[in-house]
Amino acid sequence: MFVRKAAWVVTAVLGLLFPLVAVAAPSASADAHALVRTLYYDVSQAQEFAADWDRAAVNWNNSVVNVKLARRASGTPTNIRIYADNGWPRAYVSSLGNGTVYMGRQAVQQGYYRPRITTHEIGHILGLPDRRTGLCADLMSGSSAPVSCRNDLPNAAERAEVDRRFAGTLAAGDVRAAGYTGSSSTECFVY
Ligand SMILES: [Zn+2]
Repeated sequence: MFVRKAAWVVTAVLGLLFPLVAVAAPSASADAHALVRTLYYDVSQAQEFAADWDRAAVNWNNSVVNVKLARRASGTPTNIRIYADNGWPRAYVSSLGNGTVYMGRQAVQQGYYRPRITTHEIGHILGLPDRRTGLCADLMSGSSAPVSCRNDLPNAAERAEVDRRFAGTLAAGDVRAAGYTGSSSTECFVY
């Protein structure tokens, strides 16, 4: 009697749980076990460009599902260090999801759109290389697009590429260990 009742309870609980699980799962969950990783960026050294880096985070958060960007807070790691100088904007990628980015005032003074620059540099941290197509529709075309280009969003292929790179079941700590292009050296990309 006890066993039958216990079995009924388990069945009832599972019956309650499964619809909830189904509802809670991401709608595009081809892989129900995929983990959304959060990368923390530090704007404390970003000088006058902090808002532009926040804009880059919003742009990426609205564009991809497998990785999220958030400002670092006490107790979180720092995945992305941010600086500003008078040179050209650039990104030093130490591993997928980790590195250092610079806003360079040289490009700003030439008229390049600040949110496009920051979103492009974060694109490097997320694993995208430069592709100098000259097209404004391509985020990773960088400064090969006209100075007047104000598109600061990745195109569909760029979004899909980032989601592919961050797909899978690696824990957050493993992203750092996985390295970038299998190399231990830091790669530098420019806007
Ligand atoms: Zn670049």
